[in-house]
Amino acid sequence: MKINWILISVLFLSATLMQAQTLNEDEEIRYLKKLYTNILTQSPAHDWLHYLCKNAGGRLGGSPEYAAAVAYTSHMLDTIGADKVWTQAVEVPYWRRGPVEKARIINSKHLGAVDLSVVALGFSEGTDALGMSAQVVEVKNFEELEELGSKVKGKIVFYNRPMEVERLNTFHAYGAAVNQRTAGPRRASELGAVGAIVRSMTVKYDNVPHSGVTVFKDQKPIPAVGIGLKDADLLSSLLKKEPQLRVNIQLSCRHMGKRTAHTVIGEIKGSEKPDEIILVGGHLDSWDIGEGAHDDGAGVVQSMEVLHLFKRMGIRPKRTIRCVLFANEENGMYGATEYAKLAKKKGENHIAAIESDAGGHTPVGFRMDAEASIAKESYARVQKWRSIFSSLGVWDIQPGGSAADISRLKDQKTVLFGYRPDSQRYFDYHHSERDVFENVHRRELLLGGGAMAALVYLIDKYGI
Ligand SMILES: [Zn+2]
Repeated sequence: MKINWILISVLFLSATLMQAQTLNEDEEIRYLKKLYTNILTQSPAHDWLHYLCKNAGGRLGGSPEYAAAVAYTSHMLDTIGADKVWTQAVEVPYWRRGPVEKARIINSKHLGAVDLSVVALGFSEGTDALGMSAQVVEVKNFEELEELGSKVKGKIVFYNRPMEVERLNTFHAYGAAVNQRTAGPRRASELGAVGAIVRSMTVKYDNVPHSGVTVFKDQKPIPAVGIGLKDADLLSSLLKKEPQLRVNIQLSCRHMGKRTAHTVIGEIKGSEKPDEIILVGGHLDSWDIGEGAHDDGAGVVQSMEVLHLFKRMGIRPKRTIRCVLFANEENGMYGATEYAKLAKKKGENHIAAIESDAGGHTPVGFRMDAEASIAKESYARVQKWRSIFSSLGVWDIQPGGSAADISRLKDQKTVLFGYRPDSQRYFDYHHSERDVFENVHRRELLLGGGAMAALVYLIDKYGI
């Protein structure tokens, strides 16, 4: 009799568990389409992006513009009804671009003086008012630089390796070329060079220069600029005829010590498993030219939209959904590092983290990453949702890579998802004056918010 009761209880329990975890694809697709309808007709995310771009604008961590973005997003998270909104302070290195950013070829026999289209790279050294003049030497890569060795002493090193247009995913082309910007100037400085010019990271053939961080560690900072592609090709072709070519660089940027910046956090508490956190986020800081619209205003408002959607639709999540807008991704990721450190200290359990930091274009999928012990199982779980995502036009879900800020949570057994929109036009805008609100398409932006919300919804319901 006793055994029968135990048997019945076990059967009943497993039936309940089965029921809780059985996936009804058609039902979920119908429900998620309802979420999409709500987003496409009701979401204010595009208006939030407008405010962020036009009222805060380009916002390097530590700047007054960044502080305005913190105030605005904190206020909005509160307004949309997050259960709790708070900030985390972090010390960041601060650098300010100046009004003078010039480079000019000064001694071409063929063309005389020629102004070049340049911007200072972030954390470049400035010059005095007359600028710095030196002979230019071109290299395509670090091997060529090392071969030249001390011959670059007193010269300006011109890194001119293009992003490879034949790579289908432009992020791969960026990844293969960007070390000349991040590490090129410091290696040139170590060899005694007095300046650096770096071919812009873009596959759009125009003359718009792109910025982005260049990192000096113990090396002496030197003036370093990004140059538009047409002028990079002009400079390169002239150098072939006139190897004695000299360029004058004038930059009024300055290093300004340390400042405090804040990561902004808002959450909806879970009703059944409040200790299991699903993080959704992007980075609030941006480069100071342009408005940080695609990078990463889009990710910021998409993450806020996920919270707002749950509120608008009256969905009470089982787990805690937390929107995190990280400080200082662009120059050191101090915000993400501090966030992960505090999460570990408090013993928080982030079961999943989804980051949007690849622009506001049409969604295509997610890249997944996790610690080896949980990677297989979590990927298998997400595979089961593949046809649900396909029906939403989100078809490219693969393991390998996620996103910068959330990668700091990997060792805390968090399953990481990097949201992936179409990549073809991202580097037309990235880190340039073109990264403005007008270049973000409302519908594409909202569809991205939908893809992220769908993933959060499924993880909340079924676990990961
Ligand atoms: Zn970014």
